[in-house]
Amino acid sequence: MSHQGFSETKKFGLYINGDWVYNSRQNDFESMNPATEERVGTCPGASPHEVNQAVDSAVQAFKTWKNTPLPERAHYLWQAAALFEERKVEIATMMTCEMGKVLAESLGEVGVVIETCKYMAGEGRRLFGETVASGAPDRQIMMIREPVGVVACITPWNFPVAMGGYKILAALVSGNTVVWKPASEVAISAQLFTDVFHEVGLPNGVLNLITGSGRKVGAQLAEHKDISVISFTGSTEVGIKLSETASKSLKRVSLELGGKNAVIVLKDANLDAAAEAIVKSAFTTTGQRCTAASRVIVESDIHDELLQKVVRKAKELRVGNGLEEGVDIGPLVNKQQLETTEKYVEIALREGAELECGGKRAATEKGYFFEPTILSKVKKDHRAAQEEIFGPVLAFIEAESFEEAIDINNSTEYGLSSSLFTSSLHYANRGAREIESGLVYINNGTSNAEIGVAFGGTKSSGNGHREVSHHVFDIMTEWKSVYINY
Ligand code: NAP
Repeated sequence: MSHQGFSETKKFGLYINGDWVYNSRQNDFESMNPATEERVGTCPGASPHEVNQAVDSAVQAFKTWKNTPLPERAHYLWQAAALFEERKVEIATMMTCEMGKVLAESLGEVGVVIETCKYMAGEGRRLFGETVASGAPDRQIMMIREPVGVVACITPWNFPVAMGGYKILAALVSGNTVVWKPASEVAISAQLFTDVFHEVGLPNGVLNLITGSGRKVGAQLAEHKDISVISFTGSTEVGIKLSETASKSLKRVSLELGGKNAVIVLKDANLDAAAEAIVKSAFTTTGQRCTAASRVIVESDIHDELLQKVVRKAKELRVGNGLEEGVDIGPLVNKQQLETTEKYVEIALREGAELECGGKRAATEKGYFFEPTILSKVKKDHRAAQEEIFGPVLAFIEAESFEEAIDINNSTEYGLSSSLFTSSLHYANRGAREIESGLVYINNGTSNAEIGVAFGGTKSSGNGHREVSHHVFDIMTEWKSVYINY
């Protein structure tokens, strides 16, 4: 099967020390299209020996890459940006085939990678140090940033190339070398991303790609003694495990984890704008975004009016294969995610919620499609209001006041993204201060991150390192203080 220029005649496989390696064996796995349930391709599950080879090649490459002049390192990112532009359709199409998001979103995601290449290439050149006034005469003190070593990048399936891009580009430009373990669902998209760097001639071993099960390949990589940084995006459960792994050998660890994001709507808000933003935030990427809105916390006076507007818009969304024109919502990523979504709707109804729309699989012969679902009469302690579902399910929760709305917003273990709709400057400012999350939007949906702005969550949503801004260099570099007497 060929997907817009990608053909299986080009075997990618693992990428170790500048070579594509494909030794077919027992732990090979299939990448499946969730819209058609057809096979997209077969990928190798790295053996323990291959994981070690990938890390060894990164260790060797680090010796020269760290001393490669910064403008030269940045130049590879500029070249990659141009090549991503050329191969945009090929890569985006593969992403849609592997994990189902609609093609326009996939194209947008490759656009994010291009922008990240350019941003990091520029920001990398501003890795300035500091000079510090000395207490001694004839002494100069400098603080300089140095790369840390080999970075293990472990990424999820919902943003197949952007999450890799956030980590890998920052690591490379600051002089580290990388071993990347993407989610198995999107292994071929990761191969295409890596192939761009192969094509631009990145020196051997600077970027390595290993695919295979997270529990085996991912865990071995994270535990490897020569890994200096674990940069992880994924579920809170796995993030906690990796944090434990890191603590045993003082590895640095950056965690971007799950969310239970809310849109708060106060009675003085523009309800049409709020409804529009809610539907986008809840159902784009079929609700499978870490920043997807899964709760609407609304003041009682306007509850019914807002609910009606949101339900009307949700019913207009067209569910289908993301490669088709006019489709708004693709399938869930796999059967397990479909069953989880179904299970949560059942639980919510048992707990007393009412179904306003959706609530069932879409009527298609094949594929893991679920209708956009809205629940009302959800209480703040219901499981549908507390746990990350990662599907197209939105829970309406009533609040009597701004204070109660904030209390409900802050009642989950997560703290990734929240938004507040209000026309009051007073409540907008209080919301920005009182909402417990890494991202706060006023009069905007919950998922609208921009390159250059620190992205990430608090509480169980992450550990405070911030990608896609220059603060990412706090994890990718360490300070060295140099005293020079003269
Ligand atoms: P996941 O199950 O945690 O997997 C993420 C990655 O970790 C995959 O590559 C996975 O490999 C690997 N992995 C699994 N177990 C591992 C282990 N024991 N040791 C090392 N690696 C391991 O998450 P997901 O289902 O792919 O993604 C959805 C989650 O990501 C959601 O919770 C979402 O909120 C979160 N997310 C957060 C952000 C953010 O920036 N905060 C962004 C996007 C997604 P395999 O899957 O191949 O086994």
